Amino acid sequence: MAIFIIEESKRCLQCRDPQCQKACPVMTPIPKIIKMFKDNELMEAGEILFENNPMSVVCSHVCNHEAQCSGHCILGKTGSPVRFFDIEKYISDTYLDRMRFTEAEKKGVSVAVIGSGPAGITVAVILARNGYDVTIFERRSMIGGMLTYGIPDFRLPRSLLTKYTRMLEGLGVKIRPNTTIGGALNIERLFKDGYGAVFVGTGVWRPKTLGIRGETLPNVHFGISYLSKPGVYDLGKEIAVIGAGNVAMDVSRVALRHGVERVTMYARGKRIAANAEEVEYARIDGADIEFGMQIVSIDKDGPNFKIARFDEEDNLIGYEDEIVHVHADSTIIAASQGPKDKLLLTTEGLEGSDKGLLVVNEKMMTTVPGVFAAGDVVHGSKTVVHAVKEAKIAAEGIMEYLENRKTEENTEE
Ligand SMILES: Cc1cc2nc3c(=O)[nH]c(=O)nc-3n(C[C@H](O)[C@H](O)[C@H](O)COP(=O)(O)OP(=O)(O)OC[C@H]3O[C@@H](n4cnc5c(N)ncnc54)[C@H](O)[C@@H]3O)c2cc1C
Ligand code: SF4
Repeated sequence: MAIFIIEESKRCLQCRDPQCQKACPVMTPIPKIIKMFKDNELMEAGEILFENNPMSVVCSHVCNHEAQCSGHCILGKTGSPVRFFDIEKYISDTYLDRMRFTEAEKKGVSVAVIGSGPAGITVAVILARNGYDVTIFERRSMIGGMLTYGIPDFRLPRSLLTKYTRMLEGLGVKIRPNTTIGGALNIERLFKDGYGAVFVGTGVWRPKTLGIRGETLPNVHFGISYLSKPGVYDLGKEIAVIGAGNVAMDVSRVALRHGVERVTMYARGKRIAANAEEVEYARIDGADIEFGMQIVSIDKDGPNFKIARFDEEDNLIGYEDEIVHVHADSTIIAASQGPKDKLLLTTEGLEGSDKGLLVVNEKMMTTVPGVFAAGDVVHGSKTVVHAVKEAKIAAEGIMEYLENRKTEENTEE
């Protein structure tokens, strides 16, 4: 690995106007990092990456690099682009192992972070590094959100989450696992207990149902539920996966690793939402995709479809009358997720969109003063790096809010 990335770093042209960097949602200073790596400034480079994006090492594994950094590298126009993400992986992984923080001057103000996915972790890191006392409330037993309970471990090693837990502890962040806010405790109680601000990074965990007959049958499951603990499911030998987005690709690949012999994904259209790379991997692993299949119902023996008709440009123009039945021991629905409504139902003044996503202003503050939000719960199911980008704005917003409040309190005295 080390030799490969050294060679890779030597190929970088150190562009003055780096297209790779411009295509990164968090503007990672790519040529600068590559230069520091070549100049043996590994820990310094790691620090810059971490300060810019606390999820840097995670992003090096799971970002859509084709659409971002490497897809825009100038060298890709004539040959192969620089694989910056491999260099980033090495630097950020090493940094996470060896990092030491100097203790920040304490502000004496507590902030509650609800949810420990990429958005929650990013906010917790920034606030703790700025001297705030942070407590994370996490519904599940382990931190990481979709990194732990969604993305399969063969794409993102779980050992990373152990490193993140240790890093947060090192920063003095307190974690309350198995604690749902909007259940026995709510946001109002957090403020009553003295938290100066609250951050909501609760993601989207409610599987979207198809509204068709058969979704409650015992042989039918939701993709997102399956991925959170695949070992507890007995799916049989042949399964049908409804959908062909990234979640469907992960479901298929995980199922093939858990004893399922035949996996077929069914897509309504001919253009699919998943990244090209994910589709290729799923095919290599042995999954099939059938296009032009509109699910209409599911039986105990598998799903039923209408066959779509397309024009010459692959636009869907209608369906055949006939219904086609496909045998499957289990059917898994992987048709995206929406937010749960616990916080909306239990927080006075908190407004959601018609999809239940939280409404925020440009500083990521919700309609309740002092309550900020970012990540999937704001923009719907997206990516780790987009959650980080917004979480950074939210962390700045929280600090500004707390500073303004302090000034107001001092003026009143
Ligand atoms: C199968 C799958 C594969 C994916 N693959 C990729 C990929 O390859 N690359 C990529 O960039 N993105 C990928 N994503 C998307 C990415 O994981 C998310 O965009 C990202 O995790 C969103 O971060 P978040 O912090 O907003 O929310 P989440 O990661 O969803 O974290 C939310 C956290 O809040 C907790 N929580 C929820 N409600 C409460 C409550 N009321 N009280 C306390 N805690 C609560 C949850 O338990 C969870 O830990 C994938 C998603 C899925 C489902
Ligand atoms: S575009 Fe490619 S060659 Fe240019 S700085 Fe970025 S990684 Fe290096």
